[in-house]
Amino acid sequence: MKYYDKLIFELSKEGRKGYTLPENRMKEYALTALPDGLKRADVPELPEVSEFDVVRHYTNISNKNFGVDTGFYPLGSCTMKYNPKINEEICSLPAFTGLHPLQPAVTAQGALEVYYNLSRALAEIAGLAEFTLNPFAGAHGELTGLMIMRQYHIKRGDLKRTKVIVPDSAHGTNPASAAVCGLTVVEVKSKPDGRIDVDDLKPLLDDTIAGIMMTNPNTLGLFETEVLEIAKLVHGCGGLLYYDGANLNPLLGKCRPGDMGFDIMHINLHKTFSTPHGGGGPGSGPVGVAKALVDYLPNPQVRKADDGTFYLHRSEDSLGRISGFIGNFGVMMRAYTYILSLGKEYIKYVGPLATLNANYIKESLKDCYYLPIESVCKHEFVFDGLKDKSTGVTTLDVAKRLLDYGYHAPTIYFPLLFHQSIMIEPTETESLETLDEFIEVMRKVAKEAIECPDEVKTAPHNTPVRRLDETTAAKHPILRYRDLAH
Ligand SMILES: *Cc1c(COP(=O)(O)O)cnc(C)c1O
Repeated sequence: MKYYDKLIFELSKEGRKGYTLPENRMKEYALTALPDGLKRADVPELPEVSEFDVVRHYTNISNKNFGVDTGFYPLGSCTMKYNPKINEEICSLPAFTGLHPLQPAVTAQGALEVYYNLSRALAEIAGLAEFTLNPFAGAHGELTGLMIMRQYHIKRGDLKRTKVIVPDSAHGTNPASAAVCGLTVVEVKSKPDGRIDVDDLKPLLDDTIAGIMMTNPNTLGLFETEVLEIAKLVHGCGGLLYYDGANLNPLLGKCRPGDMGFDIMHINLHKTFSTPHGGGGPGSGPVGVAKALVDYLPNPQVRKADDGTFYLHRSEDSLGRISGFIGNFGVMMRAYTYILSLGKEYIKYVGPLATLNANYIKESLKDCYYLPIESVCKHEFVFDGLKDKSTGVTTLDVAKRLLDYGYHAPTIYFPLLFHQSIMIEPTETESLETLDEFIEVMRKVAKEAIECPDEVKTAPHNTPVRRLDETTAAKHPILRYRDLAH
């Protein structure tokens, strides 16, 4: 075992140093100027380590992690695509990193211009009138969007509309956001072909419906072919259409939610627009609206004056604030860089390439993994476990075995429509060679499941830790290692 195979946290040796600080010329002043209540009684208990110790410690920890920069990451519904390094370079320019959110708008014109230009680019891509970039994540965008929907009905004095329709294939954040917004969730069923059942939808539509939340392509990677009919029906009963934009990737530059009849949507910049994500952030969930809803957007709104300067506008009819300041600026900078790097000309290749890659993997594996819905998919697709389940190898086992081969697992057990869901999204930024290698490993695991099932059932074997109790890890995380000892 190499010394770094075990995580050593207690590296401190008394007197060891990794720095030299200049002489503290403020010491006398600080001692007299600081109120006694703010002075600490003891020297802080910090680790005493050399620079080598610190650098190796963090580098070795980072090597135990997995990311798009380390390998293929086919996590469906998450769009884990390439994070171009030029994005990082641009957003670390000192003119941006040195900004303070409390600066007056006249001194932050460049940043406000970026905000404004990005919101205009998103409006063009989405086919909607205006975007706020204030929300911090997709789910936060959903809540913001539903608050706009609620505000729209309230301002019209239509107080009966308290229900929101959510398909049974929806991401869990959809019903959760509706509940947080104080709306009642009504489920609409999917047909056997994985798309919304319009006949099941019709009887739900009355004057208590605030709107419907849809993801298109849906979480099975299937385009909702009856979206125009659905839009007509929902608008016909006085409701609005919310578009969950987490799956916007395959539509980029090809078609627009606004043209399909959607009134409100969010975009996950950390999915479609190539900004890093995972581990809970940082994210950004801009929300766009049709013209009639612009005044309800959260405050403050970034506007451009006739003389070309930018200012913060506060709308009287706004639903209020949904975030401190104007959102996650670093994420916006990266997304803006990405959009400008592709430009109108190349952004239209994103969707077709993402779709081609997903269909290539699906067709190459459907003889060993069970494909419940035979159809051309968009950017992602779902298998329902192995085709041959006779040895009892589950989707979880397959996912764990992939870790041994150096791959991040696909999304598993989601969507809930199938018992053994394996959801794969390769994205447009992976090469044919990477896809072929992944297909080969998936086929190998399927073969092992028959020939040596115990090897798969007890995987992973090569990772720093074996199978974890993921629920406890998520719900009761131990964030201070000292708690382990006590
Ligand atoms: C990721 C995702 C969300 C939630 O977005 P976050 O940015 O993770 O909050 C909502 N809906 C779908 C379909 C998603 O894939």
